[in-house]
Amino acid sequence: MPKRHPMHTGRSLAYLLVAAIVTAALSLQSCAGGAAPYKETRTIMGTYVTITAARGGLTGEAVRDAAGKAFGEVERVDALMSTYKPDSQLSRINGNAGVGPVKVDPEVAETVGMALDIARETGGAFDPTVGPLVKLWGIASRAARVPSQGEIDSALKLVDYNQVVVDRGSSTVFITRPGMSIDLGGIAKGYAADRAVEALMKAGIPGGIVAVAGDLRLFGAHDDGSPWTVGVQHPRAKSTVLARFALSDRAISTSGDYERFFIRDGVRYHHIIDPRTGYPARGLMSVSVLADSSCLADSLATGLFVMGPVKAMEFAKSHPEIDTLLVTSKGEKMATGRFRDMETAPVKPD
Ligand code: ADP
Ligand code: MG
Repeated sequence: MPKRHPMHTGRSLAYLLVAAIVTAALSLQSCAGGAAPYKETRTIMGTYVTITAARGGLTGEAVRDAAGKAFGEVERVDALMSTYKPDSQLSRINGNAGVGPVKVDPEVAETVGMALDIARETGGAFDPTVGPLVKLWGIASRAARVPSQGEIDSALKLVDYNQVVVDRGSSTVFITRPGMSIDLGGIAKGYAADRAVEALMKAGIPGGIVAVAGDLRLFGAHDDGSPWTVGVQHPRAKSTVLARFALSDRAISTSGDYERFFIRDGVRYHHIIDPRTGYPARGLMSVSVLADSSCLADSLATGLFVMGPVKAMEFAKSHPEIDTLLVTSKGEKMATGRFRDMETAPVKPD
C-alpha cells in the first residue's frame, strides 16, 4: 500500500477497483486487436494516479517519457496547491489570511479564480474556503470526530468565498479575514488531470486517460480506433460498477460519501461538507459529472453533491453542457444528458 496523506486514508480500495475495471476493459479490447496501451500507476496527491496511453507508433521509450511528463504535471500541481505541504503556494496564501496579498504562479491565481467562479455558479454549494470545516472534521484522519455545535458555528464564521480576492493581472491571492483558509481538494485533482492530458498531447500521444482518483480526463482513442471505456464506481458495493460506457474527449468525475468517511452512532460522516450547515452534505450517495474539462467535472461533482438531489437536478437541467448522474440516499438514480438512457446497477437505500 502506498503512503497516504492522513486525510486520504481509506479511499484507496475503490480507486484501485476503478483502475482494475478500466484495466479489464482495456485488456479485453487489446485482445480484440491493436497494441495494448501503455499503463502506469503512481501515488501522488495522496491517491492513485493512473495514466493510460495509446502508442501511436511511438517507441516504448517515447511513450514512457510522455507518461513521465504527465505524472510530473500532477506532482507540480500538488506542490503548488496542496494544503498538506507547508511550503506550497496555497499554504502561503492561507498563512497570510488577514495579513496581505500573496504573489503566486499565474496558474495558482487562475485555479483559485476558477474555484471562486464555481462557488458563484453553484450559489456557494462549492466553496473553496471550507478549509476550517475540513480541518475541524478531520475526516479520514486520526483526528476524525463529530465536533460540537459551538465548534461548527465558529468554523462556519470563517467560511465565505466572498472574502477571497484574486488579482489575475498581478497574480496575487488575498484572504481578507484571519483564520480563514482555502482548500482546493474539490478541484485540484481535476485541474491536475487537465494539465497531465495536455502534457500527453504535447508529447504526441494520440489518445489516453489520466485518472487522478475519481477524476478522469480522456482524449482520442485506442490505437485500433476503438473508444475508451470507463466504469463508474457503485457507491455501496465495492466490487461492482454502477455504469460502464464508452467515452472520449471528455472528463468524468465522481464525488461520493463512500471514499472518506466514518460511521458514529449509525450516522455516516463523510468529507464533502455543506458550507451552509457545517455538516457533511445529506441526500446523495454519489454524483457523477461529465464535462469538457476535468476541472469543471471535479468541482461541479462536489458542488452538486452538496446541493442535494432536488437542487442538483435543477442545476444539471439548466446546464446542458454537463451530463449528470445522481444516486440519492434512497438508492434512486436521477440523470441528465448521456446518463439518461444508461443502464445502471441497482443501489439499495441506506
Ligand atoms: P474526492 O476528493 O474524493 O475526489 P471531491 O472532489 O468531492 O472528492 O472533493 C472533496 C474534497 O473537497 C474534500 O476532501 C475537501 O477537501 C473539499 N471540500 C469539501 N467540501 C467542499 C465544498 N462544499 N466545496 C468545496 N470543496 C469542498
Ligand atoms: Mg470534486
